[in-house]
This record gives sequence, C-alpha cells and structure tokens, in this order.
Amino acid sequence: MSTNLLRKLFEAVGSENVVQVEETVTKLSKDYYWYSPVLDKQLEHKRADYVVIPDSYETLKAVLQLTVKEKIPVTPRGAGTGNYGQAIPMTGGVVVDVSKLNKVVEVGEGFVTVQAGMRIRDLEKKIMESDQELTIYPSTFVKATIGGFVAGGSGGIGSVTWGNLWDGNVLSVKVLTMNEEVSELLIDGADLLDYIHSYGTTGIITEVTIPIKPKSNWVQELISFSSLQDVLDFTRYIAEDDQWKKRLVTVVEAPIPTFFRPLKKVIQEKDEHLALIEIEESDLTRLKEEAKKFHGRSIYTAEASSYRKGIGISDFTWNHTTLWALKNDKNWTYLQNFFSLDDVHDQIGKIKKRFGDEVLFHIEWLRDKGKLIPAGLPLVYYQSQERLYEIIDYFNEIGASVNDPHTYLLGAGGWNLQLESIAKKKKENDPYELLNQGKLPTHLVKETIDQ
Ligand SMILES: Cc1cc2nc3c(=O)[nH]c(=O)nc-3n(C[C@H](O)[C@H](O)[C@H](O)COP(=O)(O)OP(=O)(O)OC[C@H]3O[C@@H](n4cnc5c(N)ncnc54)[C@H](O)[C@@H]3O)c2cc1C
Repeated sequence: MSTNLLRKLFEAVGSENVVQVEETVTKLSKDYYWYSPVLDKQLEHKRADYVVIPDSYETLKAVLQLTVKEKIPVTPRGAGTGNYGQAIPMTGGVVVDVSKLNKVVEVGEGFVTVQAGMRIRDLEKKIMESDQELTIYPSTFVKATIGGFVAGGSGGIGSVTWGNLWDGNVLSVKVLTMNEEVSELLIDGADLLDYIHSYGTTGIITEVTIPIKPKSNWVQELISFSSLQDVLDFTRYIAEDDQWKKRLVTVVEAPIPTFFRPLKKVIQEKDEHLALIEIEESDLTRLKEEAKKFHGRSIYTAEASSYRKGIGISDFTWNHTTLWALKNDKNWTYLQNFFSLDDVHDQIGKIKKRFGDEVLFHIEWLRDKGKLIPAGLPLVYYQSQERLYEIIDYFNEIGASVNDPHTYLLGAGGWNLQLESIAKKKKENDPYELLNQGKLPTHLVKETIDQ
C-alpha cells in the first residue's frame, strides 16, 4: 500500500471507512469464483490494494471522486456471492463495498425503492409488512445485495413466472458515474440494459426500484419420480400452465438429491429424481393429484406457515444445488445452458449417452422474454479444462446452448448482452476506464476509445 494514497483515502472518507486488516482486504477481494476450477486457477491471487466500506452516500461519492482524481481502479462489491469472479479486482486498486448503503427509501403499492447495499432477505422482510413480495430473487437472497443482484445476477426464484432481470424486474436505478465530477444519473426503460448484469462497468448503482406483487402463501413441495422423463413432463406442465401460481419449479436428476444432506431422512432412494416446487397453498392438493398421473410421489410438504422458518427448498435449487454437490465432492463443477423446449428429452438423451454420469442434470424452469425455457445448471464431474470444453462444445453442437460460467469476461458467458452499447456507455460514464477493469473484453474497450 502507498502510504501517501492511504493518507489521502483517510482524508477523503475517514479512516473508519477504510479496511486496514490485511486478511479482511483479501476476503473482500474474493467472491464465489472457486465454483469454477478454471477461474479458481486464474483469479486465486487477485487482490485489492484498499477496501473502502462507505457508511453513507456522501462517503461513497467522496471515495469515487478521489479515485477519479488519482486514477485508481475501482471494483464495486455487494456481498461477493457472484460465481464468475465479477467482484474480483483484476488490477488491484480499491474495492468499494456498498453493503452499508442499506436503507429502504420508499415502499409503494407495486414498487419499492431501496439503496443498493440492502440484503435481499432484509428487503423482503420490509415489504412483507405491507403484504407484498418480491417478483424474483437469487437463492443467495439471505446474503446477496439488491445492487449486486442487478449488476451481477440474472434470475432465480420467481423467474418461472416473472422472467429474468431483463424482463421488467428492474424499474429504475440511480448510478454514480466516474466523470471528472462524479455525478448521479437516474436510469429507466431500455437504458437499463446498459447497467443490468454489466458488473458495474458502467457505473456504481446506489439505488434500485423494483416491482413488487401482492403476497401469496407459498407451500414447498418435494415430489419423487423414478423416471427423468416423467419428472420433466410433469414440471413442464406445471411451469407452462398459467393456472398454477408458482415461484419455483426445479428438477434434479438422481443421485443429486442424495447430496442434499439436510434432506437425508426424506431422500431414501439413490435413484430418485426430484421436483422441487414452491406453489400457492390453494393449489397444493391438486398439484399432488396431478403428480400421481405422472407417477410422482409427494415425499415432503412444508406448509405455508413454515415458509422462511429454517432451511427452505430453494436452498437446494439454482446454484445452491452445485454448492451441495461441491460439499459432497469438490470435483463437481457446473454449466449453464438453455435446452430447447421441444427437444429437451432428445438433447438430454444424447448428452447422457455420450457422457453418462459425468454430467448430471439440474433444470430450472424459467421464462425469458415471456418464453418458457428449461434452463440447465448441469453438474459436471471435472477432469480437465480440455474435457470441460469438450462437453461445452457438445452441448452447443446439439443446440443446448451454453452460457459459459468459467469466464470472468462480460458477455463471453453467453448472456445476450448489448455489449457494444455497454462499452459506449462506459466511455461516457467512466472515461478513464477505472470501473471493474479487465471484465469488458479488451477489443470492445479499445474500439470505443479509437472512435
Ligand atoms: C450458492 C449460490 C447460489 C446462487 N444463486 C443465484 C441465483 O439463483 N440467481 C442469480 O442470478 N445468481 C445466483 N448466484 C450468484 C449471486 O449470488 C447473485 O447474482 C447475487 O445476486 C449477487 O449479489 P452480491 O451482492 O453478492 O453481488 P456481488 O457478488 O458483490 O457483485 C456482483 C457484481 O455486481 C457488481 N456490483 C455489486 N454491487 C454493485 C453496485 N452497487 N453497483 C454496481 N455494481 C455492483 C460487482 O462488481 C460484481 O461485478 C448464486 C451464487 C451462489 C454462490
């Protein structure tokens, strides 16, 4: 650390807002990148020079102003639960942790405005006071911040009904730019696409307004099937048909359920495939009856009164499924892909035939721009990077297109981002290219500079 710069930081934001314990600086320089053995190797030694945790909007602005003046790289951070090294500083500099900007600004009917650093679970508690609930949230909602979700996430619980972040689940954001004079912008409508899932490369989000809905009474249900085809057909029927009010429809192939240690008493057979469903309690009886028609057997029901009390079934879904697999055997990793709705059985059959149990299927049913998609988060038993990309290539070859989670580069993962527009916006908002350096593919950064 340069003592000169440290002194300037102290002057600008007060020493109480600067982290001075080395181990804490290292910890706050990391996220969940180690889910990927490829990223684990690449990012292991990356570390910030300084971490600032501003306790107010004014302090946040002051640290950004100083970094612009001194041309120091800045990496924004929420809770650091991202999986692609999004929050890891590639070139040192300052990590700015916004988790203390965590106040609700306004809860209205159908919307909430909140500071970016608020944890999503805390936000949920707040809006439930007015009998409303979130549309979508990641399975990490207990830790993750709302700003980090908007800047680094995609979808989650609720996406089977309401879609991803891009599907109207963000109404507006306020951002601070890195211009000579750090300034605030209010972004809404189509302009949001330059900020959603852009890893904070175009600005630091300070406030988020999201839609909220009247609260439902959610029941959590586990249904066991002996055939993967049956569980896929049943869950497709539930996910596709609007008559069911649901927020989570997940499928995991056997033996993944045996990785879920807290469910040990419930999951007794090694060859059980599982549907994990959150559904409105008025639909529960009918759901169980329908499941029987697909040869499904209800093995566990958590009544609405126990929702959010203790572990929930969403703790086994989305990327939590991978976490349980990793707890079981650290050689598991994962992919993200979109199966084709009409060819999903065929695609799964082909992959199974080629790779056997080296790939285990995990599917989240979701809507993307209104279209129902069986989105895969398959587990892959890692052998080498070469083999991993052989599997990815095969998925792509048969049309089960992969969003590669083994890269920290924005857009290289496969989300259909408007990368040129993001790069242009970066030039406007961050002319010295200080924000989250190294995450935007270099050819894009260079092209916009040359213009
Ligand atoms: C077990 C597990 C399960 C997960 N499940 C899901 C899931 O269901 N759905 C999903 O979408 N993701 C999921 N994720 C990924 C991650 O948890 C979420 O995307 C989460 O919302 C990120 O929030 P965070 O506060 O931890 O953000 P961080 O990891 O801190 O940051 C994410 C990105 O946003 C940037 N950023 C953070 N705050 C700001 C800000 N205020 N302004 C600008 N940029 C900012 C960071 O630089 C980084 O690039 C999962 C991860 C794990 C480990």
